[in-house]
Amino acid sequence: MPTTNKPLDVIVIGGGVNGVGIALDAAGRGLNVLLCESHDLASATSSSSSKLIHGGLRYLEQYEFCLVKKALAERELLLNNAPHIMWPLRFRLPHQPHLRPSWMLRIGLFLYDNLAKRQRLAGSNSINFSANSPLVSELTQGFEYSDGWVDDARLVVLCAMAAKQQGADIKPRTRCIKARRQQDLWQVTLQDTQTGAISHYQTRVLVNAAGPWASSIFNDVIAMPAPKALRLVKGSHIVVPRLHDEPHAYILQNSDQRIVFVIPYEGEFSLIGTTDIDYVGDPALVAIDEQEQTYLCQVANEHFKKKISAHDIVWSYSGVRPLIEEHASAQPQQESSQQAQHVTRDYTFHLDTKDGAPLLSVFGGKLTTYRLLAEAGVNAISPFFSHIKHPWTQTAILPGGHFRDHQHLQSELCQDYPWLPQHMVARFVRSYGTLCHHFLYGAHQLTDLGIDFGGGLYQKEVDYLVQAEWAYHSEDILWRRSKLGLVLNDEQQQQLQHYLTQRRS
Ligand SMILES: Cc1cc2nc3c(=O)[nH]c(=O)nc-3n(C[C@H](O)[C@H](O)[C@H](O)COP(=O)(O)OP(=O)(O)OC[C@H]3O[C@@H](n4cnc5c(N)ncnc54)[C@H](O)[C@@H]3O)c2cc1C
Repeated sequence: MPTTNKPLDVIVIGGGVNGVGIALDAAGRGLNVLLCESHDLASATSSSSSKLIHGGLRYLEQYEFCLVKKALAERELLLNNAPHIMWPLRFRLPHQPHLRPSWMLRIGLFLYDNLAKRQRLAGSNSINFSANSPLVSELTQGFEYSDGWVDDARLVVLCAMAAKQQGADIKPRTRCIKARRQQDLWQVTLQDTQTGAISHYQTRVLVNAAGPWASSIFNDVIAMPAPKALRLVKGSHIVVPRLHDEPHAYILQNSDQRIVFVIPYEGEFSLIGTTDIDYVGDPALVAIDEQEQTYLCQVANEHFKKKISAHDIVWSYSGVRPLIEEHASAQPQQESSQQAQHVTRDYTFHLDTKDGAPLLSVFGGKLTTYRLLAEAGVNAISPFFSHIKHPWTQTAILPGGHFRDHQHLQSELCQDYPWLPQHMVARFVRSYGTLCHHFLYGAHQLTDLGIDFGGGLYQKEVDYLVQAEWAYHSEDILWRRSKLGLVLNDEQQQQLQHYLTQRRS
């Protein structure tokens, strides 16, 4: 039963984007940080998003100007700090007069262009869709505007790596099972979810960044009443063979006033989502249902020439948005008349210091605002540390992101490793940036990369992911460190799992 005697400064519960963001910010400000995550990093909401770095055009309708402004300002900053896993994405918005009127869309887009300073992202404009457009012939006019794309799960892993570089102890597959205040310290019990081993720590500050579990942590781990209710809202996405060959994403306005994105995905596919359905139950068990599949196919079919049905779905995923229930007591899942899509996407903190050692709880949030949230969270606990440094993450480049642009890095890799197939070079640039040298360096031909698992995945990359990026199970590699699960067949996936199991023994 190992116990560390020297108290830590901060223990963060939760290895989603908000938890790793806080761990990174705090470690870089000189605090002694440990982060625990029950499963793999990004195994919950932070790998189940629409993967957009965006202000959220539709939130303007809900008068969420502050949220949209801060998210818009953050877009360009994030694009600079992680150029490998994030890039600008142009959106097309077909206009249908019976839905939102065009004057409203123009005002919305004007605000979207101007609420925050833009340097890299182009502004909006109107467009006409020609007969060659992938859209049905009734859709002839619309608008274009810019937002950003992010590989959400890799963002989490890269933040965790950066936090480790700053000295944080990152512990995936480690559940926080108990935390109790004893005067100025928290006594925290962690359990290794693979071996069952228990360890005990002391910390000055406890951070609850458990996403959809942020409320239940109070009952199950801390034994205190939750200060805020979370409304759990399920959002699902489907992946189908690509609906069009253009680089643009489409934002579709459905007749129920909901928005559905159709986004180019992993070269061969389109990502279509999302739904917004109240969810009751264990967030870990969330899954798409038949109704959602039908809904997403139907919205796509109403807009695109190429028709799809549930049979075309090659993959789907669902996540639970932990949204702050306004005007509600701390009774999760209670009945609410507010439509799920209208509940705020902004975050709030709850800092509890009244009985001794501080507890900071994070409620809500968006991928796009994770860095701001982390900075604000660490600012909130900074009065408890005399030695804490100033905020620093605004211009901090995430691991692998020190390069000029995708094209430049791609040419460099082609020069350094001329034997690498183009599809692998392209994937390495957008997943690893310069980190790929860690597993490519010293190789002179493909066979130097070891076992071929298929789809361009070789042993050297797998070994790197295990050693440097905390990969453990095949799904950590196939669905979070990459999306090669879309490419490898069952036999290849089993071979990878077999290799990982053997490697550990
Ligand atoms: C469908 C959908 C689409 C979205 N699209 C976008 C988008 O396009 N752009 C955008 O900006 N935002 C988007 N979001 C929002 C964004 O994904 C979330 O705000 C964000 O991922 C929440 O991160 P988190 O760290 O709070 O939670 P999570 O990622 O869920 O992380 C919480 C972690 O805590 C862990 N945990 C729980 N209990 C314990 C315990 N006892 N011990 C240890 N670990 C524990 C869990 O295993 C989990 O991994 C979307 C969300 C959804 C659901």
